[in-house]
Amino acid sequence: MSAAKATFSGAPNAPLKTPYFMIHEDKLLRNLEICKQLKNLSGVKLVLALKCFSTWGTFNTISKYLDGTTSSGPYEVQLGHDTFPGETHAYSVGYSEDDVIAVRDIADKIIFNSVSQLERMQPLLNAASSVGLRINPEVSYAGQDLADPARAYSRLGVKQAGLTAETVSKLDGLMFHMNCENKDFVAYSTILNTISEQFSAHLDQVSWVSLGGGLFFTYPGYPVAELALVLKAFAEKHQVQLYLEPGEAIITDTTDLVVSVLDVVENDKKTAIVDSATEAHRLDTLIYNEPASFAEATEAGQYPYIIGSCSCLAGDIFGEANFPQPLQVGDRLTIKDSAGYTMVKLNWFNGLKMPSIYFKRVDADGIDGKIETLNQFDYRDFKATLGQA
Ligand SMILES: *Cc1c(COP(=O)(O)O)cnc(C)c1O
Repeated sequence: MSAAKATFSGAPNAPLKTPYFMIHEDKLLRNLEICKQLKNLSGVKLVLALKCFSTWGTFNTISKYLDGTTSSGPYEVQLGHDTFPGETHAYSVGYSEDDVIAVRDIADKIIFNSVSQLERMQPLLNAASSVGLRINPEVSYAGQDLADPARAYSRLGVKQAGLTAETVSKLDGLMFHMNCENKDFVAYSTILNTISEQFSAHLDQVSWVSLGGGLFFTYPGYPVAELALVLKAFAEKHQVQLYLEPGEAIITDTTDLVVSVLDVVENDKKTAIVDSATEAHRLDTLIYNEPASFAEATEAGQYPYIIGSCSCLAGDIFGEANFPQPLQVGDRLTIKDSAGYTMVKLNWFNGLKMPSIYFKRVDADGIDGKIETLNQFDYRDFKATLGQA
C-alpha cells in the first residue's frame, strides 16, 4: 500500500479528498492523560487491545502512555511486537500449532482460551514463557448479547467448574474479559468483587491478572480515582500485577470519518447519499444497529435527512439527523467517533474507494500542527486483496 501513497496527492492546499479518517492527536492525548492518572493512582498496567485499533502510525503517541499491546490473533501479536514498545500479550480463541510457534518468541505473555488448548500447546512454549488462561466469570456487563462474553453457551474462557488447582499450577496469570463499554463504576466494582471472592484461591496462586477491556474510564465524568482505588485493593489483596486491556477507551471520540454528499433522493423522507458505506467503512453501525452522529447536525435543525451510504445494501444507512440548512451535493459531513472497530474492519465491498487515513498532530505548543498522511489507497490495493497483481 505504500506504493499507492506516492501516486495520490492533491494540490498543496486543496481540501483533502473524501472519504477519509482524521485522527486528532489532541483528543487522543486527552484520553491518554486519563490513562496516566489511572496508572499512577492504581499501579495497573495498560495494554492496548489491537483488535479495536491498530493504526500503528499513531503508536509513537500512544506508546508513551501505555505499557504494550494485547491481541486476538497472530498478526496482531506480530504488529504489536513490531510497532509498539513494551509488552506484547498474545491471546487467541483458537491457536494452531503454527500460530503458537509464530508467537512464542515475540510474546511476553501467552493466554489460552481453554484447558484443552493450554494442555496441547504448553509443550511448544519456551520455558521462560509467561502463560495465562482466560476465565469466564459468568458475570458480565454488555449492552448486546452479541458482545457478551458470558452469554449462554459462550466459548470464551473457562468457567469456575472447569478450573482445577492442578490447571492453575501450570499458569502464571489469569485473564478475565467480561465488559463492553461499561461506564457504570458501581456495576464494575460489583463484578470485580464477585471475581475476587469466587476465584480467590486461584487468584492467590498467580503473579498477574488481566481484567480485559470494555471499561469506559475515559468517558466524561467517570470516577477514575475511585476506579484506581478498587483496582489497587484487588491487586494488593491477591498480590498480583494487574493489567487492563483497553481498546475503545483509548481512542473514543478521537476520530472523524469525513464524507461528501453525492446526491439527495426523496422517498417519503429525504436521503443524502454519501461517498462511504457502513458495511465497508463503519461496519459496527450496521452490526450493532447503532446510528452514527454527525458534527454538522443540530437538534433544532429544520432539515431532517437520512444519511445513506453508496453501497447496494438497502438498509445501509449511517443514521438520521436534523441539519440547520438543506444538504447540497458536495457538502461534507463529519461522522464522529469513528476510530474504534472501524479501521480494523475496513473492506472493499462494492469496490468503493477506501477512506484515506490522516493524523492531525499537535505542535510543541499543544495546538494544531500538521496533518500526516498515514495511508491512502487506490484501485491497486483493491485488486491486490483478491489475487496476484
Ligand atoms: C475486545 C477485547 C478487549 C478490548 O475491549 P474494548 O471494549 O475495546 O475495551 C480487551 N480484551 C479482550 C480479551 C477483548 O476480547
